[in-house]
Amino acid sequence: MTSDAHTQVLVVGAGPGGYAAAIRCGQLGLETTLVEKGRLGGTCLTRGCIPSKAVIHAADEFAKIRSEATKSVLGIGVGSPTIDFARTRAWKDGIVDQLSGGVGGLLTAAGVTVIEGTATMVDGKTVAIDTEAGAPRISADNVILAPGSTPVELPFLPFGGAVLSSTDALNLDTVPDHLVVVGAGYIGLELGTAFAKLGSHVTFVEMGDRILPAYDADLTKPVVAELARLGATTHLNARATSVQQDAGGATLQVTLSDGSEVGLHGDHVLVTVGRKPRTEGWGRENLVLDMDGPFIKVDEQCRTSMRGIFAVGDVTGEPMLAHRATAQGEVVAEILAGHRREFVPAAIPAVVFTDPEIVVVGRSESEATAAGFDAIVGRFPLAANGRNLSLDGSRSGFVRVVAERSTGLVLGVQIVGTSVAELQGVAVTALEMAATLDDLTGTIQAHPSLGEAITEAALMAQGRPLHLPLPPLSSRQASAS
Ligand code: FAD
Ligand code: NAD
Repeated sequence: MTSDAHTQVLVVGAGPGGYAAAIRCGQLGLETTLVEKGRLGGTCLTRGCIPSKAVIHAADEFAKIRSEATKSVLGIGVGSPTIDFARTRAWKDGIVDQLSGGVGGLLTAAGVTVIEGTATMVDGKTVAIDTEAGAPRISADNVILAPGSTPVELPFLPFGGAVLSSTDALNLDTVPDHLVVVGAGYIGLELGTAFAKLGSHVTFVEMGDRILPAYDADLTKPVVAELARLGATTHLNARATSVQQDAGGATLQVTLSDGSEVGLHGDHVLVTVGRKPRTEGWGRENLVLDMDGPFIKVDEQCRTSMRGIFAVGDVTGEPMLAHRATAQGEVVAEILAGHRREFVPAAIPAVVFTDPEIVVVGRSESEATAAGFDAIVGRFPLAANGRNLSLDGSRSGFVRVVAERSTGLVLGVQIVGTSVAELQGVAVTALEMAATLDDLTGTIQAHPSLGEAITEAALMAQGRPLHLPLPPLSSRQASAS
């Protein structure tokens, strides 16, 4: 196949997987070309992680001020707050512009050639690029596929009009009076909670028997309570069956758990029922790639079944999270530069930015048991943590540490509470460094801080808590044995 140019590395897609790979390749002296058909930063920076957290932050601030205005707990007197959501959106867009521009600057500094256009694999070494200026073909020694993922669309509920994807919801200029959310997973709950705080009446329609069905019920219970306090309605074991759009929005037909049918009217219906790997639109049909279900199959070095073709990020499997994509991208770049690297993390942290927030790192007790460990658990309630109380934090939140009984090796940390997202750093560092309960209890955390609750949960697992009454002697002996 003839080509117009040659490069050592060609990266398809500039999300957290692709741009990280390209920057590191450039830094390591590899001649690198990155092709992106949309904006630098991909889903995460431009329509995912960052804009959603900006809207969640604005909603939190508004809800706090509104709460002080109606029944002040802190003694702050304010008038009746209002929100100009178009300005909130402009602020959020400014953050996205700054970050996307920053990625561009880093790519330039690393000497990466960036091409705006749609890449199509013609064969294992050649990429055709559809750009405004023409359609060059570039040959490459190695290709890194990082085309990401797209929202799942339900056939009877196509996006358009009043039926929104998460991208559409993040670009609203006004706060809906009534928002119907189909799917109470990560995105539905994060955005649904934000809109509930901004003043929408939010109704969730979830087909599972719990919200966030992948998380254990203890972790989601405080989130359920907060949603109820915010006035949101949640229908579990419920199935949306059809939608009728009208001038004022849309009516979603839903079969409830008892078999009855209801019509839920909203200004908008937000559909967040999962994301799927983007395996079309970049020429997969011209390659012979082994698949792993809907994902591209990769090994521990992110190599696909074709020599010289690597894949990273959402297109390669769960968890479809930005930090996994970035870590894979960096590993592949270093492999291409001749370093000995593998992608074998001890744990990939997950944070759900609901209210309260949920942090999951490593194994839960049941997962540890299923994996053959004799596990012990220490649980410390955040109601006994001074910093949590001074932040007016969640009273039903807790930190749970799971460890191997015989060695004390920390196997997992789960947390639910107000402002606990940042604690994921302590937890994942502990797992990656193979910390034991003694390491956690021997580490001095600043006072007052939420981090002290991790120490206390580890002490609890050892049967010797400081800020809780000692457990009964029998369970102390079981923990220590
Ligand atoms: P993507 O970020 O999807 O990037 C792929 C890029 O490839 C895109 O820019 C696309 O335009 C480009 N592309 C595709 N095909 C071609 C082609 N043929 N030619 C050229 N370019 C192409 N994850 C978290 O870890 N934390 C969060 O808080 C979080 N919040 C989220 C909130 C929302 C609302 C959404 C939707 C997602 C969120 N995610 C979050 C998930 C996160 O965005 C993804 O895991 C991450 O973006 C995956 O990175 P990636 O590089 O694999 O792909
Ligand atoms: P999800 O898998 O988290 O949740 C989808 C929910 O929709 C599930 O609860 C599922 O039971 C439900 N569902 C599926 N089909 C349904 C139907 N027909 N009717 C009613 N409910 C239905 O998916 P998501 O919320 O779209 O998020 C996609 C991915 O994006 C996540 O898995 C995660 O990888 C990533 N993400 C991460 C973060 C974060 O890290 N904070 C935030 C947002 C998104």
